[in-house]
Order: sequence, then structure tokens, then C-alpha cells
Amino acid sequence: MIEDLWYKNTVIYSLDLSTFMDGNGDGHGDFEGLIRRLDYLHSLGVGAVWLAPFQPTPNRDNGYDVSDYYGVDPLHGSSGDFVEFMHQAHKRGIKVLMDLVVNHTSVDHPWFQEARSDPASRYRDWYIWSEKRPSDWDEGMVFPGVQDRTWTFDKKAQAYYYHRFYEHQPDLNMENPEVRTEIRRIIGYWLQQGVAGFRVDAVPFLIESTGAGKDPEHQHFEYLAEFRRFLQWRVGDAVLLGEANVLPEETRPYFGKDGGDGIHMMFNFWVNQYLFYALATGEVKPLIDALKATQKIPSTSQWAHFLRNHDELDLGRLTDEERERVFERFAPEERMQLYGRGIRRRLAPMLGDRRHEELAYSLMFAMPGTPVIRYGDELGMGDNLDLEERDAVRTPMQWADEPQAGFTTAEKAVHPVIGEGIWGCQRVNVAAQRRDPESLLNWTARMIRLRKECPEIGWGEWTVLRTGSPHVLALRYDWRDNSLITLHNFDDHPHQVRIKPDTAGGERLVSLLSDTESEADEKGAHTITLMAYGYQWYRVGGMDYAVRREKA
Ligand code: MG
Repeated sequence: MIEDLWYKNTVIYSLDLSTFMDGNGDGHGDFEGLIRRLDYLHSLGVGAVWLAPFQPTPNRDNGYDVSDYYGVDPLHGSSGDFVEFMHQAHKRGIKVLMDLVVNHTSVDHPWFQEARSDPASRYRDWYIWSEKRPSDWDEGMVFPGVQDRTWTFDKKAQAYYYHRFYEHQPDLNMENPEVRTEIRRIIGYWLQQGVAGFRVDAVPFLIESTGAGKDPEHQHFEYLAEFRRFLQWRVGDAVLLGEANVLPEETRPYFGKDGGDGIHMMFNFWVNQYLFYALATGEVKPLIDALKATQKIPSTSQWAHFLRNHDELDLGRLTDEERERVFERFAPEERMQLYGRGIRRRLAPMLGDRRHEELAYSLMFAMPGTPVIRYGDELGMGDNLDLEERDAVRTPMQWADEPQAGFTTAEKAVHPVIGEGIWGCQRVNVAAQRRDPESLLNWTARMIRLRKECPEIGWGEWTVLRTGSPHVLALRYDWRDNSLITLHNFDDHPHQVRIKPDTAGGERLVSLLSDTESEADEKGAHTITLMAYGYQWYRVGGMDYAVRREKA
């Protein structure tokens, strides 16, 4: 049973084919290149990769505008290359998740082309139309400032169509059962090709009621149940990982009543935003509140925790004052900000300090849930603010101090490689970091190994321990008579804290990161000193505690 819930104790690595590795020298990353880098991912220790959309696309939104759900974009290779990739990934024990982008299609998709040209077409009702301009035509944009409407008049159709995202991304009409049948077919197709599940794009928009006169507040969670049921009939341990930036009190129906009829996993955007607030201000209380607000989920459900992803760092859920404090610290210049709510920078340039980066990463691995790493962050890669919008964080992977960072042999890469400066590939690259035992890359590999050896974090119950410090977060995780404690100091000054493990074996804490241990005083408390941005992971009672308990 437990191995069917593999997603509760794995480490996911997210990458975009386009910018990871170019195998055929045309400047675009592809499956051939990715296959060559599977050993890298294997030695890093990741359990699964999440691939950004790789299907045929006019690529007006980084592939999130699909024009054929059953194919591989020729820039990334052939269907044969995909099958070879799946084979090679499985040989190394790496599971593959892929993006499911079905809230909308590209305008180029044949379904939309037919729908707009012929009112009698069976595809007409696959999209959302209105003959008159709806009163809310300029509301609810996903990309404010770049996008100025959600209903656009189409001359060919002589009607307005609805698009939550850019106007080249018409929303599918999910209320049409034929559309949902087609989505199940897409799910079934890729499961048959061996994927372990899907990262589901834009879930709240997928289930909203849309169309003139519809109540947009009404959400169709039954669609998620429908997809979940189908998925699980086909492949018992396949998963749905949802992108839904919603309030804590809104999350429950996404997971389903008992965790059995919703999506399995969700990105924890709420904790993510308060995590960055804590990193920016050194204050842990709001992060503790965020963790507690999202604590109660069904036992087979799981949070996915991340630091950065392919989008802007979305801070839209913070109060204006909280957001300003994060901007002040991490995005003081306006060009670093995006859509008025977020930051278009990578982790390393934002934090600018190896100790702070380690703290952030150690925390991500310590958050109760499953960690998701963004490609390049394991090296401390930088961003390129000269690129448009979110492309700033989508520069090619830096493999070596070579022309085009070893990403491609072409003269020109899909996005410019960061070649110079402190974030350039001369300084930040895999080849150099691999040789240096103290590099961020090797540190990350060690942390991944450690995280996989601590199933308490993915599986267990957890409790916040009192530290007496507003800057230090202490968490205890309990699972199957084993306990673990992690401590993180968000302040740029050292702090000494007193914690009581308050659990069996708590007299002795053995560090999992260094050759140290702590004995409790007569009151059962441990006095622990953390350096500036310091962190510690302890096993309660020591490594062999559980074994000894079993014998006794
Ligand atoms: Mg290529």
C-alpha cells in the first residue's frame, strides 16, 4: 500500500525541455539532450521529473498553448524519442510527470479553428462564446498589465470568446461532456506511454463556471473526481498534482472528501508566500500560521512545497504591507517585479548569500510534504531581467564553462544563455560544481539523500515546538514510533534556543547533518545554538532508537 503512495516521500525535479539540454544542435532543448542528462538527475537523487508542456505548440506562452495533445513538438523530437526517454528514465527508477494544460488550447488548435469558422461544427460548443460583449469582459485577467480583457471578439466567428489567460488561449468549455471525455482520452493516452501522473495547470479555472449569465463562483469539483477516477482505474498509483493558488479554507474540496475523489497533491502556494515573507523579514510567526492553516488534509493527500517555479514568485495572497516588505528585500527595482503581485527573479540572486540559500533549501526539504526543485536552482543559477516577463527565469541550464554553457552547440539558444557576470556560466555551472565537494550542487544532492531517508516528513504528523525566539522555526515530525526535529534560524544573527522535544526518546537528539548530539537537561530541554541563517536536523533518540524500542 505504502509504495502506491510513492508521491508522499519523493523529490520532484521540474524542468522545461526547451532550456534543459539540446541534443541535436538546433538551439532548442529536446528529448535526445534530456536522455543524455538522465544520469545527472539520477546522481542528484531525484525520484521524479515534472516536464513542462512538450506537445506541439505555436509557443506564444512557453508551451502552455497546446495545438495537439497527442504529439511531441518537433523541436523537442519525435514520439519515438519520447518513448526512448521514458525507457531510459524508468531504467534509472525516475518517474515522469507531465503538464496537463486543458483549461484552454492554443487558438491554432484545429478544434478552435473549426469552432470559429463553422457555427454548426461539433467543436463550436467546445469553447465559450457570447454574441454580445459580456459586462465583465475586462475582469479576471491572469496577467494584469499585459492582458487587458478576458473576452475577445473573433471576426470569423462573429462572436466573443472567453479566455482566462492571453487572448491566444481560448478556454475549453468544460461543461460540455464531450470535452471532458476528450480530456480523459488525453490522460489515458499519456498514461499508456508510461507517465506516472500529471501536473494539472490552472485547476481553479478548469472547474469554474464560465459563460454569459453563469455563476463564476460555482466550482465543479466533480470534474476533478471524474478525472481522478479515470486515472486511477487506468494506473493505480498515478497522481494528479494541481496548480491552485487558493486560500487555505478553499483547499479541502480540491483534495476531495476523504482524499479519494480529488487531486492527490497540490502546490502549497499559501505556505510558499509566507516562507518568502519569513526569508525577507526574519519573522517566523506568519509562516507558522500558514503551516497550521494548511495542516489538516486527508492522509493520502499531499502538499508539494517549492521555492521557485517557471512563473513569477506570486505574492498576491500577502497583504499589501507584507508584499511591500518582501519587495523591499528581494525586488527593490520595479523591473524585478511583475503583474504588480510578484517577483520575476530566481532564488540565488534574490537571496544573494549561500547561507541564506541553504536555509531556504533546507526548509523546503523540511516542509511537511513533498519538495519540488526548479532546474538550475541546485546550482544557484541567476536570472536575466532583460528578457520579457517570466522569461527572466527561463534561461538555459548551465552545464559547463563553454560557449552557450554547454547547453547547445548552436550559435543561438532558444533563450540567451547567461554568459557573463557573477551568475554567468563561467562561474555557475554543473561541471565545476560537480568537482567541488562544498558546492551548492553537492550540498543539494546530500540534502536530497537525507530527505529521502526521513519519511517522517512526508508521511508523519507534525507539531511546531516552542523555541522562545521569533526567528527560529522548530518542527517535530512523528511517524511509526520515529521522530525527527528540524530547526531553522531566519535571522542574520546567531540565536540560542531552548526546545523540549516532548516525545519518547527526547533526552537525546542526534544531528543528521554533523557529528554532534545534544543531551537534555533535567527539565527535558535542549539548549541549541544556531548560527546566522543556521539550520539543524535531529533524529530523536538517535539512529537506532526505533530498533532498540522494538527489541525492548
Ligand atoms: Mg534540439
